[in-house]
Amino acid sequence: MSLSMFRLDGKVALITGGNRGIGLAIAQLFVEAGASCLLTSRSETDALHALLAAHPDRVAWHRADVNAEDAPEAMVGAALDRFGRLDVLVNNAGIADNGDFHDFDDARLKRIMDTNLIAPFRIARAAIRPMLDQGGGAIVNIGSISGHVANTPQLQVAYNASKAAVHQMSRVMAFEYAARGIRVNALAPGYVVSDMTAGGIARPEWNRIWTENTPMGRFAQPEEMASCALFLASDAASFVTGAVLVADGGYTTH
Ligand code: NDP
Repeated sequence: MSLSMFRLDGKVALITGGNRGIGLAIAQLFVEAGASCLLTSRSETDALHALLAAHPDRVAWHRADVNAEDAPEAMVGAALDRFGRLDVLVNNAGIADNGDFHDFDDARLKRIMDTNLIAPFRIARAAIRPMLDQGGGAIVNIGSISGHVANTPQLQVAYNASKAAVHQMSRVMAFEYAARGIRVNALAPGYVVSDMTAGGIARPEWNRIWTENTPMGRFAQPEEMASCALFLASDAASFVTGAVLVADGGYTTH
């Protein structure tokens, strides 16, 4: 074992939601670790363009809604066309939606499940085929501590259920592909500063509750999730599969 095993030199990663938040931080660190990255999202950001401009040879972007019928094949095809192989998939794109369970209508339920569970399933299915052809790969699915606990004060049963399903999907995929060189793990972040949490962080009462429930007494920065994703994606985690890596400042210890 050497420190170089934490690097991704020569590897190609597909990262959904790579334009902002946790996905962008993962993309930035993966590029620094030597990977070529195909990033996907619906919208463009200045930070995305900065990364593209800084590494035109190793970063590419593909506009896609993860819920589009052809998105999985198109994304994987874009990565293969541009970089010739696919070693790592990070299923990061996701959405949250809060509300009382008894008022949570079918359209909102479908939107959460489609984006957070069905899309990662379909994208992993498309990505695993070239990984099988190559004889290996690594998949990192971004779950959440919401897959383990009931959040408070916000009510979000559908989101929690979608993330619990992502964890279990990861574990069972890991079982199915372990002998074929493909590792599958989930990363379960606690509260991370991003557009997803900005509204809650700005509300003093929510901010207080989220902070007090986190023994470290603070939110994570997206970069603190990127380091965890890099570990899971890299050869440093060569014997790690089917894990749900909780990175939550201690939130789920109590
Ligand atoms: P952001 O809201 O900052 O980013 C969400 C990302 O997902 C964006 O890149 C967005 O791109 C993309 N995305 C959302 N819907 C779609 C879609 N239909 N098609 C394509 N891309 C889509 O959130 P975070 O960075 O915080 O979250 C990233 C992941 O981490 C999510 O899976 C989230 O559930 C999870 N997570 C976040 C936590 C937090 O505290 N922030 C805690 C635990 C888990 P665009 O809108 O441009 O398409």
